[in-house]
Order: sequence, then structure tokens, then C-alpha cells
Amino acid sequence: MKEIYDALVKIVGPEWVSDHAEERFIYSRDPGTMEPREPDLVVMPDSSEEVQKIMALATEKGIPVVPMGGGLVLSGLTRPLKGGIVLDMKRMNRILEVNETSRSVLVEAGASQGMLQAYLRKHHPGLKHSIPDAPPIATIAGNVLIHGSGHLSAAGGLHSDMLNGMEVVLPTGEIVKIGSCATSPYWFSRAPLPDLAGLFIGWSGTTGVATKLAIKLYPDRPFNDVGIFVTEDPELVPDIIHRIAGVAVAEDLLAWMTPKPEWARGFQMINVNYGAESRRELLLKRDLIRESVRKYIDEKVGGFMPLIPEAKQRFLEAPQSTLAAFADSRRGGGFEYVGSIMPIDLFPEAYRKGIEIAGRRGVPHSLGARVIGLGHCMMFFYAYAFNRADAADVKLAQEALDETNEAVLEMGGIPWKAEAPAQKQIISRMDPDTFSLMNRLRGLLDPKGIMNPGNWEAD
Ligand SMILES: Cc1cc2nc3c(=O)[nH]c(=O)nc-3n(C[C@H](O)[C@H](O)[C@H](O)COP(=O)(O)OP(=O)(O)OC[C@H]3O[C@@H](n4cnc5c(N)ncnc54)[C@H](O)[C@@H]3O)c2cc1C
Repeated sequence: MKEIYDALVKIVGPEWVSDHAEERFIYSRDPGTMEPREPDLVVMPDSSEEVQKIMALATEKGIPVVPMGGGLVLSGLTRPLKGGIVLDMKRMNRILEVNETSRSVLVEAGASQGMLQAYLRKHHPGLKHSIPDAPPIATIAGNVLIHGSGHLSAAGGLHSDMLNGMEVVLPTGEIVKIGSCATSPYWFSRAPLPDLAGLFIGWSGTTGVATKLAIKLYPDRPFNDVGIFVTEDPELVPDIIHRIAGVAVAEDLLAWMTPKPEWARGFQMINVNYGAESRRELLLKRDLIRESVRKYIDEKVGGFMPLIPEAKQRFLEAPQSTLAAFADSRRGGGFEYVGSIMPIDLFPEAYRKGIEIAGRRGVPHSLGARVIGLGHCMMFFYAYAFNRADAADVKLAQEALDETNEAVLEMGGIPWKAEAPAQKQIISRMDPDTFSLMNRLRGLLDPKGIMNPGNWEAD
């Protein structure tokens, strides 16, 4: 490793390579339940060319490389399962170009959600990007590459759907361009070329290192409002979501169910966030949303909750601070959730199963579902908080997560950003020819098997 260390110092400079015990400790873990695994080295590159040299060196020497953004995925995907190098992308955080007319932004892979949000507010106040509820240090790349979702997902789909193009350094050191940027100076779309983005999205850093990304931007409207539809009957939720999403005015549609505070237990709350250019348009949109669920209001099985302005303001925040507050409810900094992508039809079953698992195991929980597109699917989350300093608490959460992953697959959903053990659960149910194709593609891109090894492997 001394030889590798010296070679890396030549590429990035001595300040940006570390084998210190403190750094190896920090980079060995995340807030989730997975066991820590230490890297041998941590490197912070400053340019695509530096990444290129690091990858060529790692491939030549057969050293594992784990790309990392904010390290906040929670399911341990940035832990180096087989040691080697953690490639921390946070120095490559420049916001390179905004196209106001075509509504897109080009960023380096280490640019964070908070940075882009602040930059757009200051320099392009009419534009915003879709923000996940993750802490602001989470990166655009880390989120797009795992098929994340956020505050504009009812309008624009998964964050991977909002990707216009990418620059990627392959494990063998070539720099490739994905989307229109392969042919044109504009980063406007992944169409009409063969869409190679699928070689890198959803792979948990096992196929290449994204160095630049262009994503779609959306109007940041001057008038914004939120309505919260409440019902006690989970069976009604798929149709309520279907109707509200169908009028196509919601930017974000988020169901949440929580045992605390006491008054909220047993209710399904559906937040409907929307924006407008004028007060009149806002009222019109409010009426469209209300009319879409009039049937349920008239039948007195649900209705919109009155909200005081302070509460409204809180529900209009992006990212939402309530989930972050729940994440630390056990103190000790432990938090992980099974996010699962599934059709909205499965909401009642997913909800009942979540209540049953959390109740039986006595684990502090919060359940919810973010609607993707016009109800095309949802990301249903089962969030468990635990105290990382208490081994019994960690074990309780880990067992609940394992059982939840299995239950999700049993229902017909798929665990999202799955931990390495949950990836194996997915693979065991996957069509074998599809898994074989995945392996062949991976072998082609990464002939020495150095990219985040231990992930997406059958055993
Ligand atoms: C309180 C809380 C709320 C959350 N809410 C949401 C939410 O609303 N929506 C949501 O989508 N997520 C949410 N998350 C989950 C997670 O924090 C986010 O998805 C986050 O955006 C992940 O980004 P990251 O930069 O931390 O990724 P990382 O954890 O650094 O990386 C994620 C994966 O991508 C790979 N990767 C990272 N960068 C690169 C790169 N440049 N090239 C190749 N591979 C790379 C890594 O190897 C890893 O496999 C939440 C988390 C918390 C703690």
C-alpha cells in the first residue's frame, strides 16, 4: 500500500490522500446498521483527469475503489467491503453551467444538494431542482445514481428520470460521455442516442465513477401551498393518490403515518404540495385537487386538515426537517430505512405489514410513501431509528430491516438502495438471464472487478 499511497500523492498531492486511523475509522461506517469496514486509503480528487489516473492505477494494481458522495445512503453502500480506496468526490463540487431557457444545470459529481439549492436561489431565483429530504451535504450524483426521489417527484418522476447526461470515468480509465453531450456541446437530453445511462444508474458504484452530471430544473414558483388529506382507511389511499395525482398539479405527494404524536396514530396523512405563478392560479389548483377527492369528502371518510400558517410553512420546507428529527429520536445517531419501489396499489398491504413488523418487534418506526410521477409508482419507506451505541438496539433494527426487505419482495415491490445482504435477497428472486447479463456487462466495464466489490454479487 505504501507504493499505492506514493502514486496517489503524485496524482492529487499529499493533502488529499490519507491512511490515518481517524479517517479510516470515519470512512468505514455510515448511520445505518451495517458493520463497519475500513478502507486502506481515502483519496479526494479535484478533476476528471485525476479520477482517470486513479482508476487506471487501481485497475493496474487490482485495488478496490468505492466512489462516495455524501456517504448518507444509510444502507452501507460506501463501506469498502474488500478494503482498498474510498474515492471521496466532495472536492469536485463546482456548479459549471445553468441553461435558464432549457432549464438544466451541469454540476460536478461532488456538488451537494444544499450547495445547488443555495446557488440557484442566489443566481437563478426562478429555478429549482428536486430536493430529497436527505441532509443537504448529500450529493446530486449519489442521489441520481441510486434512483432517488424528492420534492418534485410527482411532477418529474425519479431523480434518475431527471438526468440529461453524464460524464463517467470507467474503471479502465477512459472518460465517456452519456447523452446528448457525447455529440453536442449541449447537455439537453439522453435521447435520441442509445441510452447508456443504465450502465451506471442503480449499480451502487460498481460500474464507473460519475464525474459530471446535467439534471433538469423546474420553475421555482412565487406562490406555494400544501394541503393535507387525512383518512383512517388505508384501503382508500391508492384511489385517493390516483385521483389527486391525476389532475397533474401536485409537485410532491407524500403519505406519512406515524405512531407519534399520539393524535396521529392510525391516520394516513397525504401531503399535496403545489406552486403557482399567481394567487388566482394557486386557488384554481387548490380547487382542482379538492374536486378530485370530493367523493371521499362527501362520504365523510376523509378530508383536508385545517393547518395554521406555521405548520404550513414547515410542510413547505425542502428538505423536510421532520424526518431528520425522527432519524435522531433514539439519540446515538442510528437511522436506516427500507425504501421500496412498488405500485401504489400495494399501499394498504405495505402499510399493514409495516405496522405489524414494527409492532411485533417493538422498534421505533415511521412509515410513508412518496408518489413518483402521476401515481406511476411509489417509494414506500419503513424507517427505523436506533441508538448506535446500544448493540441490542442495532440488532433490533437490523432484524426489522431484514424482515421488511423480505416482506417487500414477497408483496411484489423491490427494496431500493438495498444493503449488500438485501441485494442478495433481490438477486435470489431475479430472472437468472437478467442477472447473467448484469454480470457480463460488469465484467466488460470492470475487467479486474475493482469497483465497489461485494455489491450486486450472488455470494
Ligand atoms: C433524514 C434522511 C432523509 C432522506 N430522505 C431521502 C429522500 O427524500 N429521497 C432520497 O432519494 N433519499 C433520501 N435519503 C437517503 C440518502 O441520504 C440520499 O439518497 C442521498 O442523496 C444519497 O446521496 P449521497 O451523496 O450521500 O450518496 P452516497 O451515500 O455517497 O452514495 C450512494 C451510492 O452511490 C455511489 N456513488 C456516489 N457518488 C458516485 C459517483 N460520483 N460515481 C459513481 N457512484 C457514486 C456510492 O458508491 C453508493 O453506492 C435520506 C437520508 C436521510 C438521512
